[in-house]
Amino acid sequence: MPTRSEMWNRLGAEELDVLVVGGGVTGAGIARDASEFGLRTALVEMNDLAYGTSSRSTKLVHGGLRYLETGEVGLVFESVSERRVLMSMAPHLVKPLGFLVPVFHGAKRPLALVSTGMWIYDALSLFRSPKIHKTLKADALAAEEPCLRTDGVEGAPLYYDCSTDDARLTLEAAIAATRAGAIVATWTKVESFVRDPSGCIVGVNVRCMLTGQTKEVRARAVVNATGPWTDATLRMAGATGSHVLRPTKGIHIVVDAAKLPLRHAVLLMHPKDARVMFAIPWGDRTYIGTTDTDFQGDPADVAATLDDVDYVLASCAEYFPRNPLTRDDVIATWAGLRPLLAPPEKGDDMAESQVSREHHVFVRDDGLVTIAGGKLTTFRLMAMDVIDVVRERLGAEFPKRRERRKRSRKLLPGAFGYGDTAEVAQRVRTLSGNALDPDVAEHLASTYGGLAVHLAALVAQDPSLGEPLVAGRPEILAQVDWAVQQELAATVSDVMVRRTQLFFRDRDQGLGAAAEVADRMGKLLGWDAAARDASIAQYEDEVARSRRWRNEARA
Ligand code: FAD
Repeated sequence: MPTRSEMWNRLGAEELDVLVVGGGVTGAGIARDASEFGLRTALVEMNDLAYGTSSRSTKLVHGGLRYLETGEVGLVFESVSERRVLMSMAPHLVKPLGFLVPVFHGAKRPLALVSTGMWIYDALSLFRSPKIHKTLKADALAAEEPCLRTDGVEGAPLYYDCSTDDARLTLEAAIAATRAGAIVATWTKVESFVRDPSGCIVGVNVRCMLTGQTKEVRARAVVNATGPWTDATLRMAGATGSHVLRPTKGIHIVVDAAKLPLRHAVLLMHPKDARVMFAIPWGDRTYIGTTDTDFQGDPADVAATLDDVDYVLASCAEYFPRNPLTRDDVIATWAGLRPLLAPPEKGDDMAESQVSREHHVFVRDDGLVTIAGGKLTTFRLMAMDVIDVVRERLGAEFPKRRERRKRSRKLLPGAFGYGDTAEVAQRVRTLSGNALDPDVAEHLASTYGGLAVHLAALVAQDPSLGEPLVAGRPEILAQVDWAVQQELAATVSDVMVRRTQLFFRDRDQGLGAAAEVADRMGKLLGWDAAARDASIAQYEDEVARSRRWRNEARA
């Protein structure tokens, strides 16, 4: 894998067919498809891969049961089909999860209606859901999920969707792109567009956010895949029309699984406004969310407020009265912006070229291709829609969409050599000479899939890399080496938030490990003391932002 600085050096030195702006799941998916189909491709991301919404979702690959209520059957069909495809492309990352829907007597949506919805949901997956739903009676529900309030329960359908690691899904799509020849330059911000004499966009001016260097990068097509920053990018291109997006904020809270132990995800209706939320088991933790509030600020400064946290806790109090959670139980929070499409009125300087109800691909007169909206689950379809537009603009010869649809199902990197987690974990232990404990081996297998064996090999070469980053937790030093050498990690935050999940899972959000991680990264990347300290400080700021609501609580 080329290093981040090698990627930067290649930018501007190689001819490009397509340059993608934005390294969320949308941009990574486009770069993967474009490079797989022979286009000379670069992706530039101003921060880390998945820095934006793509590491801040509810982490589900799902059909969107709730769309059935609004009659958007086509959309659900599309999403459950994608769920099946992603389960086979990335079985190590997209894993079946049972969802309980407790229905109480007198509920707005009675059990018969919810059950009908479940049958439709299973039927739309052509009965190839991870498992077909069944309905539990109150006593069975109490046995399955002892924390859940069951008095007054009429029944609880149990249906199946998938959980995922959103950041890693993005990362693996980007790595797949690099394997197909794409340049993926992180910490590289587009600051302006380059135009030919007729005003058409023929490239971008970028700045390396780590060194301050700038350069011009030319490409035959430029794609704006900047998620919640879509309107900002369009304004940079001179757009003066109405907004494409109406972003809304969603937050999640993380608590110790011992405080709220769950076997299944539970669908909650908020007691105040009946909004659908989820409580999701997450190994040693449980997370609960999400909220949905308008957001107009800087997308880089999105954070949970005290009101957000209290709103989520209120929902838990209603459903899990025997396990009362307080603000003090919150280990971590995350907040993200949904890049939702604004109501249909379009920007005055845009022509719509492709439409789906969840995402739009627009081409401006100056040639800038923009993709807006969408979700994690449908990233592969979104990429195909964008590639159709790009191919048409470039006049490139491409296989037909049907053929491409098939070929874009290629496995993501960690899926190679992955049968199931237990089997990979066993190999990891053996390869490490049994130096790694079973829980560490399992953690590596479930995080990296088939790639976990390479981390075991690192430990076999240098046993000190098997040391835990935080005492008592399964994350190990080898993950830092792997992140830097194979996953383009360039800052302490990259490692803490998106390569490991210490930011979310560790009681101290990984602050106690930051110095050790920085020292190791500094050794691998040749940092001086100032660069090391700056990277630690940046991480501390990120943790502080996620804890800002606590200051409101104290005030
Ligand atoms: P982003 O991930 O935000 O990526 C855009 C990137 O562009 C950012 O990394 C940013 O740094 C970069 N960028 C911006 N400007 C520039 C520039 N000038 N130069 C270079 N780079 C730039 N979907 C699901 O399928 N399942 C779910 O469970 C789910 N839950 C969700 C829960 C919440 C609370 C939210 C907010 C969303 C959820 N979604 C879910 C939706 C899904 O997460 C998003 O649709 C998806 O992650 C958006 O990806 P993106 O790549 O378009 O945007």
